[in-house]
Amino acid sequence: DPSTGKYTVSFIEGDGVGPEISKAVKDIFAAAKAPIQWESCDVSPLFINGLTTIPQPAQDSINKNLIALKGPLATPIGKGHRSLNLTLRKTFGLFANVRPAKSVQGYKTAYDNVDLVLIRENTEGEYSGIEHVVSPGVVQSIKLITQDASERVIRYAFEYARAVERPKVVVVHKSTIQRLADGLFVSVAEQLSKEYPDIEMQTELIDNTVLHTVRDPKKYSDVVVVCPNLYGDILSDMNSGLSAGSLGLTPSANIGHKVSIFEAVHGSAPDIAGQNKANPTALLLSSVMMLNHMGLTEIADKIEQAVFSTIAAGPESRTGDLGGSASTSSFAEAVISRL
Ligand code: NAD
Repeated sequence: DPSTGKYTVSFIEGDGVGPEISKAVKDIFAAAKAPIQWESCDVSPLFINGLTTIPQPAQDSINKNLIALKGPLATPIGKGHRSLNLTLRKTFGLFANVRPAKSVQGYKTAYDNVDLVLIRENTEGEYSGIEHVVSPGVVQSIKLITQDASERVIRYAFEYARAVERPKVVVVHKSTIQRLADGLFVSVAEQLSKEYPDIEMQTELIDNTVLHTVRDPKKYSDVVVVCPNLYGDILSDMNSGLSAGSLGLTPSANIGHKVSIFEAVHGSAPDIAGQNKANPTALLLSSVMMLNHMGLTEIADKIEQAVFSTIAAGPESRTGDLGGSASTSSFAEAVISRL
């Protein structure tokens, strides 16, 4: 907005703890004088002809602003409609899910100095939702891999590696068994790597990736891992466990050709909702990824450092999930005092 010098971002506050952690982000952004104005966006789903649909005003807001920050959305169980998160991915063509997992200084976990980046294909594989009962007791589930979807996510991984100055892309697969499907993913990577002579490309079987990562995560500190959907789902949670031990710290980005949506990895935490207990760090670090994506790196660093130094300050300034006694709002105030 040229009149205010601010960027407008759609904000989906989400369910459960969503509004509480969203308020923390808004307060911290205001105190940090981040050049962002929020446009509140209600994505309560509509069910039209059996399809889960995002309300038109929310779609219009996100299509106009191109960037959204999103709190967790609760998925109603067993009502026979698609999860809203999946609907958002499909609606906006969010083909890559970026999941960094980094140790938090001053908060001791089983591993020190973990610094992992994983990019997961977000649209197909085992998540295409094509399943049939062939005969009673026999089901078939289709894993769909296409050249187009593989190419756009692997290309994004090379571009991301270049942007964050990591010299190597590791393509994780199981093409010894999934010969055609993962074989296609690997061969697309081999083709594309010719366009990125400055980035090394290595292919690795998923079982080896798991073994090597849990043995010594540092081996992956200077690489970007890219993989098909299901492997990425599992590996990224493992990485979060290695780096933080808590999903309350893990941010993510969903990247499309036009729109990108940044969100915490955790869910709506119904057990602690409305109690001023939730840790807003994951949504805050997602907002930091968003600022970096927008090129606002200085303000991103300022907020990130204030968050990390608050966590490092000790149990009084940490929320309950990190063994501390702070509330959502007192944590936010502590971050603001460190900006
Ligand atoms: P959850 O992540 O909501 O909760 C798991 C545990 O982690 C709970 O004990 C919770 O209290 C704790 N937790 C989560 N976030 C926390 C935070 N910020 N601070 C402190 N503790 C935190 O997972 P769930 O219980 O399996 O799912 C609850 C709902 O969230 C479901 O409806 C599910 O579909 C939805 N969900 C949404 C998303 C998303 O929007 N991206 C992701 C996962 C789950």
